Amino acid sequence: MLSYRHAFHAGNHADVLKHFVQVQLHLYMNQKDTAYTYIDTHSGAGVYALDSSFASKNAEFDTGIGPLWTRTDLPPALNEYVKLVKGMNPSGKMRYYPGSPYVADQMTRPEDRLRLFELHPADSKILAENFRKAEAHKAEQGERARGRRVMIERGDGFLSLKALLPPPSRRALVLIDPPYEMKDDYRKVKDAIEEALGRFPAGIYAVWYPLLQRMESRQFADRLKRLPAKEWLNVTLTVSTPGPDGFGLHSSGMFILNPPYTLEPLLREVMPYLVKVLGKDAGATFVIERGTQVTGAAAGRVG
Ligand code: SAM
Repeated sequence: MLSYRHAFHAGNHADVLKHFVQVQLHLYMNQKDTAYTYIDTHSGAGVYALDSSFASKNAEFDTGIGPLWTRTDLPPALNEYVKLVKGMNPSGKMRYYPGSPYVADQMTRPEDRLRLFELHPADSKILAENFRKAEAHKAEQGERARGRRVMIERGDGFLSLKALLPPPSRRALVLIDPPYEMKDDYRKVKDAIEEALGRFPAGIYAVWYPLLQRMESRQFADRLKRLPAKEWLNVTLTVSTPGPDGFGLHSSGMFILNPPYTLEPLLREVMPYLVKVLGKDAGATFVIERGTQVTGAAAGRVG
């Protein structure tokens, strides 16, 4: 069953957390000359029009990128992400929002590789079309085509990941961002990373997840902490207190295995700001925790 369409949620508070962290992970990867492979197991459509009937239905971007758009006091690290979104809206009006593949396309270098998986027939087609247009635009600007830089496949990202590891350059950034509409996704994420770590322990694996009432969601981060990675970093953003019906997404997290040492200090600067600007009530908060395989225990906690 593939009912999830990310277009309904584009630019919401969960996307802000995910894509802000993604930008920072790319900036870290770009510090070394050696090329890397970016693998997006659940890519979505790549670009979203915020005035489409999908995105405007619940206007979820009003909980995320909307309130950041006109701010002039953004912390520098958060500004890197907002700058990227503004770059795709040259008129200054907030019309388009980037999906993770677009973020990766902007943040990677010509020698890096993008491997994008999307199972939904409509979204995989839109994703391929978006990249075709982007390549045509680059060609118009006189940029040389880079053959197999980007590969897009309509397929199951959970199953496809292992075949790409280890990557030729022994550097990889993997984003795993399933819909979690089916509770099996939680187990599949854990199993896929376990297998991936066995093949390529040095990769950076970033997992987005929702914080919901259901048991699988509440236990998820603790399960990821037990995976055999040297280190992990977990950050969550809660924008409001869930109502008694438990309806809606109030809170989400990014769990990073083998995180760059640069990320935690940046999160400590940016997360209080996100709580201040995106928070809706006294329940708004954040948590940052990290740990190592050796201790398995949280080494730092805020929020
Ligand atoms: N990563 C995207 C972004 O940040 O812009 C959003 C991805 S969205 C949360 C999840 C996507 O996964 C949906 O487009 C859905 O169709 C797709 N999907 C669901 N199961 C999948 C699977 N097993 N393999 C690949 N894609 C899948």
